[in-house]
Amino acid sequence: MAGSLEFGRPQFRAYGCRNLHLLPQWRTLSRDQQTAIEAVSAVLPFRVNDYVLSELIDWSNIPNDPIYQLTFPQAGMLEPTDFSRLVDFVIKEEPEALKRAARRIQRRMNPHPAGQMDLNVPVMGGELLTGFQHKYRETLLFFPSQGQTCHAYCTYCFRWPQFVGIEELKFASHEVETLSAYVETHTEISDVLITGGDPMIMSTKVLRKYVSALLNPRFDHLSSIRIGTKALSYWPYRFLTDPDADDLLRLFEQVRNTGRQLALMAHFSHPRELETDACREAMRRITETGAVIRCQAPLIRHVNDDVGVWAEMWRAQVRLGAVPYYFFVERETGPNHYFEVPLARARKIFNSAYSQVSGLARTVRGPCMSAAPGKVEIVGVTEIGGERVFVLKMIQGRDPSWTGRVFFAQFDSQAVWLNDLEPAQGEAEFFFARSMRHMKDGLWRPDWQHGDFDDETASA
Ligand SMILES: *Cc1c(COP(=O)(O)O)cnc(C)c1O
Ligand code: SF4
Repeated sequence: MAGSLEFGRPQFRAYGCRNLHLLPQWRTLSRDQQTAIEAVSAVLPFRVNDYVLSELIDWSNIPNDPIYQLTFPQAGMLEPTDFSRLVDFVIKEEPEALKRAARRIQRRMNPHPAGQMDLNVPVMGGELLTGFQHKYRETLLFFPSQGQTCHAYCTYCFRWPQFVGIEELKFASHEVETLSAYVETHTEISDVLITGGDPMIMSTKVLRKYVSALLNPRFDHLSSIRIGTKALSYWPYRFLTDPDADDLLRLFEQVRNTGRQLALMAHFSHPRELETDACREAMRRITETGAVIRCQAPLIRHVNDDVGVWAEMWRAQVRLGAVPYYFFVERETGPNHYFEVPLARARKIFNSAYSQVSGLARTVRGPCMSAAPGKVEIVGVTEIGGERVFVLKMIQGRDPSWTGRVFFAQFDSQAVWLNDLEPAQGEAEFFFARSMRHMKDGLWRPDWQHGDFDDETASA
């Protein structure tokens, strides 16, 4: 295969809050920008690498460059009072005080809504399976412990507490056995989604252990293995010139040869990420193995809140043989006041971009909120009996009988999430609200979960 020679063998080198001064572009930043980066990166995870720095960021357009906004900490991500306190410690060179203040802010910003994680964590043999989520009947989410970091970090990432405590992660040696045992007994599962962090941070050798376990012929019910990744954007050499890149592609072929789909769920935030030779060659090599690349990303203010950006991105994806999949509304994360886009505006951006592309790109669905009861699409805004409403559709339900259901919420131009919405048409609550309450109290589960979830934990 072509690839290696043209690109050389770039060595992966990361920069973060511990070695900011080694950033090749550090000296080109103003003193204020440097101080802001030092202050904010004490709180929010920051990681970039040479590829992101030299191939993706346009340094003549700082700080507005979308990839700079995607990866570099910005003053506006923190509350002004928090920010100025941290800046003080940076200027006075008091690293211990900076660390302490940063930790306090982190605790306050913790984005995990209480109980929500536990509702999705399955139980097997009385043991809570941390590292797994089984929220939707057909798809099991698996978070391998070695895959919980990324080649660079997105500033809006809702998984940031995972990265902040990254040193504490330990390898759970029986993960492969747990994965196989759970999939074997749960014949309702057709898809396993390996996710992170970024599973592509793992060596092919480690990834192969998980994937081969799933290729067991006994798992006839398994039709797709999905891998969620941003490596095509942040380190395409993973598929080109890294020492085990070829072996990785062999693994993808092997999945295909057992009659299953390998779906690479690629996170693309901006069309620029699709423009480099390295990314395009990586996509070509991946699709040659028979794997399918499906693309998804959230709508993020300062990064991609623009009609042209999405239309261009979907066109580029189709041209490169990939399939546009989800257009997400950014969920609540620590700094999301900086990134959020109201649902009404999200719908407008989606609609305008969607109307500019051909049907081959209209495989994309959205704007989609991945919320506690399920994935909710904002179908549109209309008037019913004189009331202005959002038309919403549950496109993936925690209870499969909810899937496909259309419902209405009072129009609210400022609402940014499902919690901000009120039912319309005189309804007292949304159709799923009662079940969700009972679920949190341990009184209700969808039928398919037949007692496999630990209700003690859910109600704790
Ligand atoms: C989105 C999601 C899935 C996959 O849903 P699809 O619509 O099949 O892509 C699975 N589990 C969780 C928790 C999800 O949020
Ligand atoms: S690639 Fe995904 S998991 Fe990694 S930092 Fe970005 S959003 Fe978070």
